[in-house]
Amino acid sequence: MAASFEELGLSRELLKAVADLGFEEPSPIQILAIPPLLTGRDAVGQAQTGTGKTAAFGLPLLERTTESKGVQALVLCPTRELAIQVSEELSKLAAYRRSIFILPIYGGQPIERQIRALAKGAQVVVGTPGRVIDHLQRGTLRLDGTRMVVLDEADEMLDMGFREDIELILAQSPEDCQKVLFSATMPQPIRDLSKRFLREPEMLTIAHKMLTVPAIEQLYYEVRPYQKMDALCRVLDSEGFRKALVFCATKRNVDEITVHLQQRGYQADGLHGDLNQTQRDRVMGRFRSDGLEILVATDVAARGIDVDDVDAVINYDIPHDVEGYVHRIGRTGRAGRVGRAFTFVTVREQYKIREITRYTKARITQGQLPTLRDVHNIRTSKLLEEVRSTLAEGALDRWRLLVEDFQAENFPEGEAVARDMAAALLKLLMQRDFGAQEAVSESDPLAVPPRPAFDDGPRNREQRPRRRESGPMSRLHLNVGRTHGATPRALVGAITGESGISGQSIGAIDIRNAFSVVEVAAELAEGVLVTLNKGVFISGVRISAKMDEGPDPAPRRAFKPGPRRQPSAKFKKPRGSTTGRKQFEQSQDV
Ligand code: ADP
Ligand code: MG
Repeated sequence: MAASFEELGLSRELLKAVADLGFEEPSPIQILAIPPLLTGRDAVGQAQTGTGKTAAFGLPLLERTTESKGVQALVLCPTRELAIQVSEELSKLAAYRRSIFILPIYGGQPIERQIRALAKGAQVVVGTPGRVIDHLQRGTLRLDGTRMVVLDEADEMLDMGFREDIELILAQSPEDCQKVLFSATMPQPIRDLSKRFLREPEMLTIAHKMLTVPAIEQLYYEVRPYQKMDALCRVLDSEGFRKALVFCATKRNVDEITVHLQQRGYQADGLHGDLNQTQRDRVMGRFRSDGLEILVATDVAARGIDVDDVDAVINYDIPHDVEGYVHRIGRTGRAGRVGRAFTFVTVREQYKIREITRYTKARITQGQLPTLRDVHNIRTSKLLEEVRSTLAEGALDRWRLLVEDFQAENFPEGEAVARDMAAALLKLLMQRDFGAQEAVSESDPLAVPPRPAFDDGPRNREQRPRRRESGPMSRLHLNVGRTHGATPRALVGAITGESGISGQSIGAIDIRNAFSVVEVAAELAEGVLVTLNKGVFISGVRISAKMDEGPDPAPRRAFKPGPRRQPSAKFKKPRGSTTGRKQFEQSQDV
């Protein structure tokens, strides 16, 4: 296999550009992909992000593009940011091919400018599927002269609902044009697509570097974003670790979780990049010397941590990539000790767990979060275990005397009260150690809310049948919408879970791009508002809720919501046929 760009059969102009970019040697996917792509073969490439796929298809693409005017190559990207990025990288690679013009086209840019540039004879077009279709329909882009079509990040594009657009584009490109598909993952729809449109494609796969995962027990829990804090306490309570390391994604999360844990009585402290060396040393010193049970940290802050006896790593936020996961959980199970790792996963993050499992070949088992009753049972059996060993130790004479006196004083008739007294003591101990949390009969905030009776499909607007025909409803405006991944289920779950109202008291739910409007029984609305504004997270967004002033207004209330961040993406009325995601792409152009 060739190990230098020269050996890959590239022209002098491109080699010069590659050298200017500072690429010393081709990456594995480039070594693998460039030779077959130069021959014009169809190909399917799979490699992780950041492995140099752009140049892997970009160099052959430029090599095969001539100076004659008109579109010869088309690259489809899922987002406008990627289209711009790819187009910029191609332009750099084409620095010594001055007559090749590379044009990014995407929703949000005035279409006239793109039309003019296309008319001038751009040879390479890098675009988002929606805008490319737009140009095809206007006749301002023609594909008859196209010799190469590249689908970059094909899995992303399918996930975003571009499937039909992509099929239409592929169907309109010439029969004998080279088709190349790059994708980080190879789900069935991607295979179907390549089967339908590619001719005997070369399969280009870079095996992910095998990572050695420490042989420790690994569990993951499915949680809703707003349930994570409770879930964390549940895990801590049921396991009773002596030293646990909790990882989260941001400094803010570190602070929030630390404060929360401290308030709930745990010996916890946080570590992140904003602390100075003295503060860091102090926190680390306490963690090392067992003065802290729980250390909450970001990846960066944890880099310097060198502690051998961590019982457990808890990924409060799932790490960004496989390497991150392996690195984090490697903090436990050191020096021959038993270690355990727990990862919280939201519905939207499930693919990450699959990816981690695939690349590490580790067994990560799905766990059931301990219920309140479980926690109670675990605590009780621990306490009883302590009672048992205290009995076994003996030397109880002094205490026995106390009991006899107590009995003589309070129960002179000599009733058999031993059992009742023991029970009273247990109750006392449990309540003293764990406080009001021991009220196990209370409703469990982690219990899965009932699934609302409507489907959660990829439509732009979800309507639930009004359950309460009778009572008046108020409309609540929440700053979380489709672009944040809000679903009716998440909203209902969060509102019922946090405020304790029943699903029956929730009416229609309207999820827009940047916000949602939820109907709630008018008499409960104020309470729900107050609860939600206390710092509830839905889909990772800290909720700011207010009464909606839209049409069909609820009776005015005295309640004044606190300051609220304006939703950033302006909502545009959806066009009948566009999918939510495409509409998001379009709505960014305001
Ligand atoms: P991918 O599309 O696989 O996620 P990119 O093509 O965006 O990756 O490349 C990631 C980064 O690596 C870019 O900044 C790119 O310029 C750089 N890069 C690509 N190939 C090489 C190489 N052979 N040597 C050094 N850097 C490279
Ligand atoms: Mg890329």
